[in-house]
Amino acid sequence: MVILQNFINGQFVAPAGGQYLDNYNPATGQVYGKIPDSGPEDVEAAVAAATAAFPAWAAMPLEQRHDILRGISDGILAKLDHLAEAESLDSGKTISTARSVDIPRAALNFKFFATALLHFASESHQMPGALSYTLRQPLGVVGGISPWNLPLYLFTWKIAPALAAGNCVVGKPSEVTPYTAYLLGEICNAAGLPPGVLNIVHGLGPCAGEAIVRHPQIKAVSFTGSTRAGAEIARIAAPMFKKLSLELGGKNPNLIFADCDYEQMLQTTVASSFNNQGQICLCGSRIYVERSIYDRFKKDFVECVQAMRVGDPADPGSRLGAVVSKLHFDKVLSYIDLAREEGGTILCGGTALSLPGPLAGGWYIAPTVVEGLPIGCRSNQEEIFGPVVTIQPFDTDDEALALANGVPYGLSSTLWTNNLRRTQRFAAELQAGIVWVNCWLLRDLRTPFGGVKQSGVGREGGWEAMRFFMETKNVTLAG
Ligand code: NAD
Repeated sequence: MVILQNFINGQFVAPAGGQYLDNYNPATGQVYGKIPDSGPEDVEAAVAAATAAFPAWAAMPLEQRHDILRGISDGILAKLDHLAEAESLDSGKTISTARSVDIPRAALNFKFFATALLHFASESHQMPGALSYTLRQPLGVVGGISPWNLPLYLFTWKIAPALAAGNCVVGKPSEVTPYTAYLLGEICNAAGLPPGVLNIVHGLGPCAGEAIVRHPQIKAVSFTGSTRAGAEIARIAAPMFKKLSLELGGKNPNLIFADCDYEQMLQTTVASSFNNQGQICLCGSRIYVERSIYDRFKKDFVECVQAMRVGDPADPGSRLGAVVSKLHFDKVLSYIDLAREEGGTILCGGTALSLPGPLAGGWYIAPTVVEGLPIGCRSNQEEIFGPVVTIQPFDTDDEALALANGVPYGLSSTLWTNNLRRTQRFAAELQAGIVWVNCWLLRDLRTPFGGVKQSGVGREGGWEAMRFFMETKNVTLAG
């Protein structure tokens, strides 16, 4: 049994109420550990520690703050194998994905913002007889709440800029995948992060998470997760006038035109549909293909998808592992049933998979491609967040745009074309925070990241994240 504890004031402590939740291994469906079921008392202790640590952390010379954050980055990389195994054990993703994507990116988040803090500058504005300058100061204690799909990667995507900007943090990882956040505590201590600067409280969203959102001393909350929870957080935080960054769900379109580079498009579309079992907020789950290449694409795509191996997350030969939880497994399968009821044709997949031996109880789903569903049906409107995509032909640019924009979400979209005029029109008219043209998931950490419509408000990344975690004050000097 792996028993996790909260990380408060640099120490690992049991939850105040003494209660724990089961932690499951999705590959086997078995409980392998316990995590604190924390509540307001634990959050209170974390806020007290963060408040006490704040003045010294905010006043620390930038080079020293940089060195500590850089040390955390190095510490993550030094434990790459252990962290990748822990991430896979917790989430069902393949170890190879965790090793090549999740954990290196978590290290890079710290490295990137360690450097950013050295270069961050504010503006000044001159007018005759006066000079105004902008002071950007850390907020104090801030909250970070993250989801299960990219556990350490998204947790650190919040914590690193918050700390770089001079704040102290109370963070809560997903209760479904808490293990690597727990291990981060040890790494922070080893890197010399002063006690109380980062505090990690484990537990359920409506209890520990909500206690963070409600706490009057927490000045800002950076949240990544479902649109439903984001709306609840906004409802609580708005009357308290907290700064909020909400990175929410998606239902992203892939628009494929006949003039694209076909092979590159095909391989990338397989990845953008099914990487991490389709559990990336940026996965393209609605694939629209120009009619002249639709039949060719359908045949090739389905062949590629059927060739992907779903298997033991520890096996380097597995392309897909397990989905994250029994709850999510049931949800994804219920959407596949719904797609059938709505008149969709299952071109491949469409079922749970039973693997042999100790994996027999694991939560595996065959990658699924559905054809023949109209834009207005629930399968095309609601986020499934699993290995399920729909495909459909289109005839004109106008139709492709209308399909892409015809959902309540607007996180990312992917466009495959070599037509420059079309590219510029779609880049301007697609309702999404991120537009990829002839690529997918290519991330420069300096660029703004976030969604429109029900995919959220606010932007992460680069200076956007640094500024979110600071209060802006204008000072005008005359005479
Ligand atoms: P979730 O909303 O259920 O949970 C996310 C986090 O919020 C967890 O830590 C959870 O404990 C906490 N939480 C839940 N309810 C809360 C409440 N009332 N108050 C405070 N905290 C609360 O989401 P999930 O199922 O963990 O993650 C999947 C979702 O995340 C999908 O919708 C996916 O699209 C989204 N996501 C978005 C992005 C993005 O950048 N936009 C990235 C990754 C995932």
